[in-house]
Amino acid sequence: MCVFCKIANGEIPSYKVYEDEEHLAFLDISQATIGHTLVIPKKHYENFFALDEEEAAQLMKVVALVSKKLKAALNFEAFNILNNSGALAGQTVNHVHFHLLPRYTDDGLVMHFAGKKLSDAEFKDLLGKINSK
Ligand code: 5GP
Ligand code: ZN
Repeated sequence: MCVFCKIANGEIPSYKVYEDEEHLAFLDISQATIGHTLVIPKKHYENFFALDEEEAAQLMKVVALVSKKLKAALNFEAFNILNNSGALAGQTVNHVHFHLLPRYTDDGLVMHFAGKKLSDAEFKDLLGKINSK
């Protein structure tokens, strides 16, 4: 059984921020910023793609609710919501979860997208691939 399944069933203790029948939100053991919270479905799904759209929608509802709870309680400037799906994307626990990350001035957390602009032909080619699905 994975570590988040154990947290969900109470085998491993956690600092719970929110709980309902199917979801749990708890403080990340390693606080990237103060208030760093994880939101999970209690049922084990490997990553975001393992959720069907209804399950994803239910999980996002809890993400929204818990985000607002954090916002009301903590005096932060800004906020990131993050899901890592797959090891290459930084997923280390293979039970789907969203990171809620309160952001403060000088909090030291670096989230940088070093993007590159495509040519018009490249954008059209890319869009053709995506929109063929
Ligand atoms: P990932 O890298 O998979 O997106 O994030 C996994 C997160 O789970 C990490 O931020 C890590 O600190 C957190 N984590 C791992 N084990 C535990 C644990 O036993 N308890 C809690 N509260 N967080 C954990
Ligand atoms: Zn699990």
